[in-house]
Amino acid sequence: AIPLVVAVSTSLAANSGLLIRDRQAFERARDLQAIIFDKTGTLTEGKFGVTDIVPLADMNREDILRLTASLESNSGHPIAVGITDSARQKGLDIKSPESFNSIPGKGVEGVVEGRKLKVVSPGYLRETGISIGDESVGNVEKQGKTVVFLLEEERPLGALGLADLVRRESREAIDRLKSMDIKCMMLTGDNEFVARWVSEELGLDEYFAGVLPHQKAEKVKEVQQKYIVAMVGDGVNDAPALVQANVGIAIGAGTDVAIESADIVLVKNDPRNVADIAVLARKTYSKMF
Ligand code: ADP
Ligand code: MG
Repeated sequence: AIPLVVAVSTSLAANSGLLIRDRQAFERARDLQAIIFDKTGTLTEGKFGVTDIVPLADMNREDILRLTASLESNSGHPIAVGITDSARQKGLDIKSPESFNSIPGKGVEGVVEGRKLKVVSPGYLRETGISIGDESVGNVEKQGKTVVFLLEEERPLGALGLADLVRRESREAIDRLKSMDIKCMMLTGDNEFVARWVSEELGLDEYFAGVLPHQKAEKVKEVQQKYIVAMVGDGVNDAPALVQANVGIAIGAGTDVAIESADIVLVKNDPRNVADIAVLARKTYSKMF
């Protein structure tokens, strides 16, 4: 039988938008010492807009945006959606790519208008030894923007800078968790500058930037050497990390894979509900023992 106080808490939780899928994980939430948040779509809105386009070869900004958007029109990644939305708003003619592949945690590749293109992260350029002679790209990164590159046959055609917004609720969520002596950390595949900017904006205790999808669960494991850990995420990439954590929490608007891997789902997509989980778990399980 479920103790009455737990039954009451479960329904209290449901009323505040918390779907508890695993009651034992909810019990473990009483002892949480650290919370690791995914950045994009969790602490931030995950709604990008293109703010900068830097030509790196003999191609104008419109063509750079149009070709990039055409390739990205096959991807559901928040960056891809931001790029195609921005191109549509400019009235550009977006075509479906003739072939398409995603490179997890790094970008996408395919053929558009007969051209072999890639849209990739700065990390991809570093790994493959492609260098960019233009320092204005670095300036865009230093503004805390996400930067991706359009390549044709590994030759850089242009760089696109995108801005995302920190969720208004994130700040309060972090403040409340820190006041409960829970360390707040962030994990992201995005670059160091963006990670640092978001981290300072929210007063996080720690962040890990440039983390590839397959490394996310490994990072959680590392933090678990010291702390009892909850992971909060929204994407397909986050699923193994949600499973690895002592408590896996998914944003309700996230992907099905993330939701199915989670112990608790935030129905309202509000990061403040993570603090509610910690409070409610402490109240519930302190009365019992
Ligand atoms: P996060 O951990 O912040 O949720 P992801 O692991 O999904 O980010 O992606 C990591 C990085 O890979 C992005 O910051 C971007 O540089 C690159 N990337 C992933 N998907 C795409 C895409 N569709 N188009 C361009 N770049 C992408
Ligand atoms: Mg994400």
